[in-house]
Amino acid sequence: MPQVQPTPPPRRSAFDWTEAEARRRAEAGLVRTLRPRPAVSELTDLAGNDYLGLTRHPEVTAAAAEAARRWGAGATGSRLVTGTTRLHTRLEEELAAFCGFEAALVFSSGYTANLAALTALGGPGALIVSDAANHASIVDGCRLARAEAAVVPHADPEAVRKTLEAHPGRRAFAVSDSVFSVDGDRAPLEELAAACREHGAGLVVDDAHGFGVLGAGGRGALHGAGLAGDEDVVATLTLSKSLGSQGGAVLGPARVIEHLVNAARTFIFDTGLAPAATGAALASLRLIAADAGLAERARAVATALHRTLTEAGFTSARPDAAVVSVHAPGPEEALRWAADCREQGLSVGCFRPPSVPDGISRLRLTARADLTDAEIERAVATIVRTAPPGARREARAQADG
Ligand code: PMP
Repeated sequence: MPQVQPTPPPRRSAFDWTEAEARRRAEAGLVRTLRPRPAVSELTDLAGNDYLGLTRHPEVTAAAAEAARRWGAGATGSRLVTGTTRLHTRLEEELAAFCGFEAALVFSSGYTANLAALTALGGPGALIVSDAANHASIVDGCRLARAEAAVVPHADPEAVRKTLEAHPGRRAFAVSDSVFSVDGDRAPLEELAAACREHGAGLVVDDAHGFGVLGAGGRGALHGAGLAGDEDVVATLTLSKSLGSQGGAVLGPARVIEHLVNAARTFIFDTGLAPAATGAALASLRLIAADAGLAERARAVATALHRTLTEAGFTSARPDAAVVSVHAPGPEEALRWAADCREQGLSVGCFRPPSVPDGISRLRLTARADLTDAEIERAVATIVRTAPPGARREARAQADG
């Protein structure tokens, strides 16, 4: 008699639990999808971070192509082995000189630059005082630093002062975005620096959204605040926003940069920035250095977007740099507004939980120096058509309440 084999239980995968997570996300309306953008688009782009409109500048794309031809498509190794070309060192020298710092170090991204600064300057026994609204890469840097991380209320130098006061004699630094990515507001850098100075603490500032837009000719928020080159101040940057390329950098006193070369794991164990991205960033930097009007234009576009939108009843904080953040009453409205804008030829960003704290839903518009007045007018008209007056009032009531 043939033996009846018991039916095997349905095969289960170790990752079945991700389906339950996906269902939860779908029920909460928080599913994220990847949508490739067309290379050449009919859409007006107010969603990207190409603040100075340089990513397609012919000199920048030609520099990327030339760098790849000359040095290869990849960096081929860590910066300490084969990954440093003359383009990398030149970019470091010119970035430091332009922003007013002693030295600079280029990384494969702004994310790894932040991880480098926080882990190499943190460490066991150290104290890091971090603004509650800091970028995710700073949050992760604090976690990886194995230091004590004290999160203080947003843009509150007094809270930074008190926290430092409570830990006398500790090796410490405060860390803050210069311009916060969601609401586009600016950190009180002078006050933060004063609080740090009083307690012998360092200050690390992520100038991802300030570099190229703030400070004289776009030299950055720290230059604007008179803090560039200060021996207690370190800046981190991304090369992916105003420079229209890819990559990141840390700027500071030469001995701090030397320390990062020797101690920052995301420098030592990461492949160097690709030559094309390095060459493109260098070309952009030279364009910015040659034309102080670029930064001014980006700020003027942001101001114009903000003024016309608030006149139409939207709630939006006065932009300090190129990010214009518009309140929506909830995540569904923000998502619908962004989708409707897209259908009408306008690409805008949409911020909602869990990327931002609960209760925050925003359309995020980015100013670009190369936007024409007609494009600005059309963009605002599209947003006005998309968001009904009742919803605008509801968002305002929430902001006031
Ligand atoms: N810091 C801030 C404030 C940012 O907005 C970003 C980019 N979204 C980063 C760091 C990370 O830079 P990158 O994209 O070059 O990794």
